[in-house]
Amino acid sequence: MTTLSPVRDLISDKVASVAALTTIVIGGGISGLEAARRCAERGDVVTLIESSAAVGGKLASHVVDGLRLDAGAESLLTRRPEGLQLIEAAGRSGDRVHPATSGAGVWLDRLYPLPRQQLLGIPSDADDPDLPALLGAAGLEGLRNEPELTPGAEPSHDMTVAELVGGQLGTDVVDRLVEPLLGGVYAGRADQISVDAALPGLLEATRRTGSVMAAAASMRAGSPGDGPAFASVIGGLGSLPDSLVNACNLTVLTNTRAVELLNSPSTGWTVVTDGTDLLLADQVIIALPGYAAAPLLGSVAPDAAAVASALEYASVALVTTVFDAGSVTTPLQGTGFLVPPVTGRLTKAATFVTSKWQWVQDVAAGREVLRFSVGRHGDTRGLDWPDDQLVKAVLDEVKDLLGLSGGPRAAAVTHWEQSLPQYRVGHRARVAQVRQMLPPGLAVAGAAWDGVGIPACIASGRNAADRVAEARSSG
Ligand SMILES: Cc1cc2nc3c(=O)[nH]c(=O)nc-3n(C[C@H](O)[C@H](O)[C@H](O)COP(=O)(O)OP(=O)(O)OC[C@H]3O[C@@H](n4cnc5c(N)ncnc54)[C@H](O)[C@@H]3O)c2cc1C
Repeated sequence: MTTLSPVRDLISDKVASVAALTTIVIGGGISGLEAARRCAERGDVVTLIESSAAVGGKLASHVVDGLRLDAGAESLLTRRPEGLQLIEAAGRSGDRVHPATSGAGVWLDRLYPLPRQQLLGIPSDADDPDLPALLGAAGLEGLRNEPELTPGAEPSHDMTVAELVGGQLGTDVVDRLVEPLLGGVYAGRADQISVDAALPGLLEATRRTGSVMAAAASMRAGSPGDGPAFASVIGGLGSLPDSLVNACNLTVLTNTRAVELLNSPSTGWTVVTDGTDLLLADQVIIALPGYAAAPLLGSVAPDAAAVASALEYASVALVTTVFDAGSVTTPLQGTGFLVPPVTGRLTKAATFVTSKWQWVQDVAAGREVLRFSVGRHGDTRGLDWPDDQLVKAVLDEVKDLLGLSGGPRAAAVTHWEQSLPQYRVGHRARVAQVRQMLPPGLAVAGAAWDGVGIPACIASGRNAADRVAEARSSG
């Protein structure tokens, strides 16, 4: 039996007499949550549909050895304002925390300090004292002899990160610096990812300055300087989505999957779910990964659906381990390390969770939490292994480096399948075209389109909310 939605029921109950718009947001990740929050703040009657049992998407928690920890994203960048604004909107400013330590390592034959003067691995200062050891003499020479580009003209078009950075600063910079950072953020490869999508603004800054390194320096200088670069909240980022929902006037339908989207002049938008409901709305925001957005876009914007379904994704797994503190005999420095793919290792990165977050150290009381990540686009080793095998393989690999004596008290593996979009060359232009293809009253948001970092996702959700509102007021 088909029933009308709570949204439409509200309208028939004359709530519509105050002329509130009804908005459905599909996808309860951080992008959809912010879109929903923004629409609700404006006075729309908002229903958020989430297919899983909880909102948050990649912001999620799990319990390991009795400790509630982040199971996905664990840190947000403060260099742009959206993340901190969201913490405030969720009523959690009082819980805001910053890393207790700074600096990270790059694991080659040993750990080398990651230079601080860099932008996604692109050095912005050739005299950074950490560069010589990491890059070696040849690598440093490549960096210091960057060829001059024609100001105003070059680079003339989007290209891969490796083409631009490797061409200008040498392959050592790509292999030892850029790859590990791209692996950490996108689980992607420098020879495949669009520089314009991964580093918006870098092409323009390079044209202006005639140098990639000068462009990286000018972009770093242009971002808000002082203060810690990362933030979280006590309880972890996984605790934010519920706080946000509680702070907003939203109807949230979890365990509800949107399976079809229809649009007609008489009834407006109809979202068909896997339950019995047809949900009707004046406007719809789709905040889903490309492969999940495509089937919904199919009947209303088929060309946009084709772009969405062509987006490739990387899968990753996180291995969270809890040790007795005495079992980790190497003094841990900084927040963790990144591992370049040229090393051939299974482990892609490590976070020293108890060193990084004081609130975890407080609750862990004498235990050490170490989190490792595995999986890159095109390198799925370990992702289909049984959990025990994956945990063992990772710990065998890092045992000597971290001086691990004995096994962990507890370990958990979290799989994030098809979780990180791989922006190919021309991505931003295609996204602009997709937005042109969408009928009024429909917007897309999320990591699929506008950047994978949490602040970028928040901005994307917010902009989608504003776009549907603008279309309405101008239509
Ligand atoms: C392991 C991992 C660690 C990360 N760490 C960080 C970090 O520390 N800092 C950082 O800035 N970024 C990090 N990122 C990136 C960032 O977390 C994500 O890019 C961001 O959270 C994506 O948010 P989103 O709302 O766009 O998508 P998602 O979080 O994917 O949300 C989409 C939601 O839609 C739901 N859904 C799917 N299909 C349907 C449907 N048909 N109907 C209804 N609902 C549906 C899903 O269940 C999901 O909840 C990390 C990513 C991963 C995978």
